[in-house]
Amino acid sequence: MLEHTLTEQVAALRDGAYSARELTDAYLARIEAAGGALNAYITVTAAAARAAADAADAALAAGNAPALTGIPIAHKDIFCTDGVRTSCASRMLDSFVAPYDATVVQRLAAAGAVMLGKTNMDEFAMGSSNETSFYGPVRNPWDPARVPGGSSGGSAAAVAAGLCSAATGTDTGGSIRQPAALTGICGLKPTYGRVSRYGMIAFASSLDQAGPMARSAADMALLLHAMAGFDPRDSTSIDQPVPDYAAALYQPLSGLRIGLPAQYFDAGLDPDVGDAVRAALGELERLGAQLVDIALPHTPLSVPAYYVVAPAEASSNLARYDGVRYGYRADNPVDLEDLYKRSRSEGFGAEVKRRILIGTYVLSAGYYDAYYLKAQRVRRLIRNDFLDAFDRVDVIAAPTTPQPAFRMGEKQHDPVAMYLSDIYTIAANLAGLPALSVPCGQVQGLPVGLQLIGRDFDEARLLNVAHRYQQVTDWHTRRPPETQA
Ligand code: GLN
Repeated sequence: MLEHTLTEQVAALRDGAYSARELTDAYLARIEAAGGALNAYITVTAAAARAAADAADAALAAGNAPALTGIPIAHKDIFCTDGVRTSCASRMLDSFVAPYDATVVQRLAAAGAVMLGKTNMDEFAMGSSNETSFYGPVRNPWDPARVPGGSSGGSAAAVAAGLCSAATGTDTGGSIRQPAALTGICGLKPTYGRVSRYGMIAFASSLDQAGPMARSAADMALLLHAMAGFDPRDSTSIDQPVPDYAAALYQPLSGLRIGLPAQYFDAGLDPDVGDAVRAALGELERLGAQLVDIALPHTPLSVPAYYVVAPAEASSNLARYDGVRYGYRADNPVDLEDLYKRSRSEGFGAEVKRRILIGTYVLSAGYYDAYYLKAQRVRRLIRNDFLDAFDRVDVIAAPTTPQPAFRMGEKQHDPVAMYLSDIYTIAANLAGLPALSVPCGQVQGLPVGLQLIGRDFDEARLLNVAHRYQQVTDWHTRRPPETQA
């Protein structure tokens, strides 16, 4: 049963091929056996999961079970979970137990999903390798000497290694798509405003979006359907109906125009990764799509603009961790100033402090216009590039990352090299557009991701293209060698 995709498990649970309790117990046993070495989970909620699975079996027996009843999932530890530690992989929140559920958590529970636990991540979602976690790095199941990507690296490794059926992630500059690509799974960042941010610990509020991480496009369609929708508790949530993503999967691709941006097939792209992506584009062409060369000329400015906007917002969002209201508090402060200083110095890790310093600097009087305002203007130019391109094409295709998974430690002491691993993912966040990654090949035994970027609220189209591709290829079915069930 663990070799089944989520979509297959939904059918098997309804057919009675196995019970929700059996499925949950099987995942918990695997987490027990293999989870420790990967460090994919920060918290495992075994007893609550078993109780939820029993309730799922009762609902299945009663015949009134919602779509995801009995499906065991994991939540990135950035989502508040009522009564369960919510650490954001930071010492600052090591002992924080959330008093309520994030909307994403609440909606997936209402759809019947069973929470197995909370997954490891980069501290406050700042990173691309999962090496900034207070709880230690996550290992890539394809090669334990390599990173799984980040910041949703625990969710990605857990899905890839079969430690859950699917997982949630968040993506501010690539944190769903990049780890999905590096671990050979599927991940989707929805349009900004599509999924509620309520109860999702804020990093950069104008960029953050939650999305599904799973084994197939069909799995993501079911998950997104449960996660998406208007939420009055998030003022940036958009009141627009949620389409039936699963029903849209089978649309033919004939006549679909796919744009290939020259700037995403540049000198920084590993040639073997480029070949894998081009082979995938060939498949899409055979399915009837038409490939069109396009330009997104402001792409080279996306990483620098992001590393002004995201730290600026982070410096403001993280001001709340002051040692007074909640979270880590330094021992024996001599006065209030000392309490603030030492709580923040001891509670935050090095990368988080770097972002707070950069953000405070670019927002300071005298530098605001030169950096923050300019970055916001660049952001608009980047979005305009996409809007122009979408006059000519329906979907944009590109690599998700310039390289396959890198070695642990390789980029840890070179922040700029680390930041460049998101060079192909960041622009979609700055533009607010939906984008997904699906596995499309391997380079020296390591997975490679194909990225698809769509128009605002066109997740259904992206899932449709990905699903059609997965009907004629089997990259998404490959599993890391030692985890084959
Ligand atoms: N790697 C990027 C960063 O460190 C993006 C992280 C994310 O999407 N949360 O900011």
